[in-house]
Amino acid sequence: MDTKAFKRSLHHSENYFRKGFGHGDEVADQMQTEYNSGLIQEIRALNYTLTRGDVTIKLAEAFGFCWGVERAVAMAYETRQHFPTEQIWITNEIIHNPSVNQRLKEMNVAFIEVKNGDKDFSVVGQGDVVILPAFGASVQEMQLLNDKGCTIVDTTCPWVSKVWNTVEKHKRKDHTSIIHGKYNHEETVATSSFAGKYLIVLNLEQAEYVAHYILNGGNRDEFMAKFGRACSAGFEPDTDLDRIGIANQTTMLKGETEQIGKLFEHTMLKKYGPQALNDHFLSFNTICDATQERQDAMFKLVDEKLDVMVVIGGYNSSNTTHLQEIAVEREIPSYHIDSASRIGPGNRIEHKLLHGDMTVTENWLPAGPIVVGVTSGASTPDRSVEDTIERIFAIKSEPVLAY
Ligand code: SF4
Repeated sequence: MDTKAFKRSLHHSENYFRKGFGHGDEVADQMQTEYNSGLIQEIRALNYTLTRGDVTIKLAEAFGFCWGVERAVAMAYETRQHFPTEQIWITNEIIHNPSVNQRLKEMNVAFIEVKNGDKDFSVVGQGDVVILPAFGASVQEMQLLNDKGCTIVDTTCPWVSKVWNTVEKHKRKDHTSIIHGKYNHEETVATSSFAGKYLIVLNLEQAEYVAHYILNGGNRDEFMAKFGRACSAGFEPDTDLDRIGIANQTTMLKGETEQIGKLFEHTMLKKYGPQALNDHFLSFNTICDATQERQDAMFKLVDEKLDVMVVIGGYNSSNTTHLQEIAVEREIPSYHIDSASRIGPGNRIEHKLLHGDMTVTENWLPAGPIVVGVTSGASTPDRSVEDTIERIFAIKSEPVLAY
């Protein structure tokens, strides 16, 4: 499919919307009421530190809702107002946050179900309104919805669209896109649908394996066993890595994306020499500012003396997991929760281990004066952060029973 031509024609369709519907002010008030927090504003004004009793809370200087997420949620709210009686669907969670998704369900926005690993679009009918989430949708999904005669409200973040444009450029120049991301993350699935040839690498270790293969060749079967699910159909490692370009899932660790970019630049330089580098390597900056700011703020926060760290965000949120990774690397006792309701009753927390399962930790808040670092992923409303902090204060204000 000529994805670029399809996208261009879709953008000109009268059934396609990627800006609001003129209800911005009402929606802003509604979102303010539902998601904002007086306590968080207070902590921001106090230079991100608040002490109550034995607890000092230190908030990261950048956390929570990014503008791309805020924009997507606002557009979904506007869609409900603009189409009050129509059936509205969303192709996936609008963002990776359970409370926001729940709120949309309450507004009668239905989610497309996944059956046997595939989304079941059979429920969507002509004239239905379908919202595409902040991290986008694959070009095949867009085409299917367009063919069905749906009204499409596209909330894809412009930063994500920028990556799509980048892989289109790689395709035009017959370069293979090397995408730093998770092959089954919705954003990367969408990005790869716009690419020509592509290979998805999860981390620096996988990138080093590929770089070594480019320079020295290797065992093709082993390569395909490693990347079989993370490359385009018919991908040939021995011929499809001669010309490459770099792209990324916008929520990956910024430092790692940069390292991967440099690694491949050096690899192609070594293989083809400086004169021919531009014929074999393309790189554009597609790291999202919001992800970068939240990660930088986290690095600053973990430099402080913290007894405990709490990271709030959806369990399938990539940017939240990366924040948790930073705390774990620094060996700070850190708890990833998706909402304040994971805390309690008493001094107990149910949390997700990094790359692991859910678990429960009793007595997670130490006795005596403590400093608690708090941050949240780009999909988390301030209200969830406030609720979490209030529960921490409540635990520490409970009298300790003497036996
Ligand atoms: S994290 Fe970045 S790319 Fe993702 S929605 Fe927010 S602004 Fe957009």
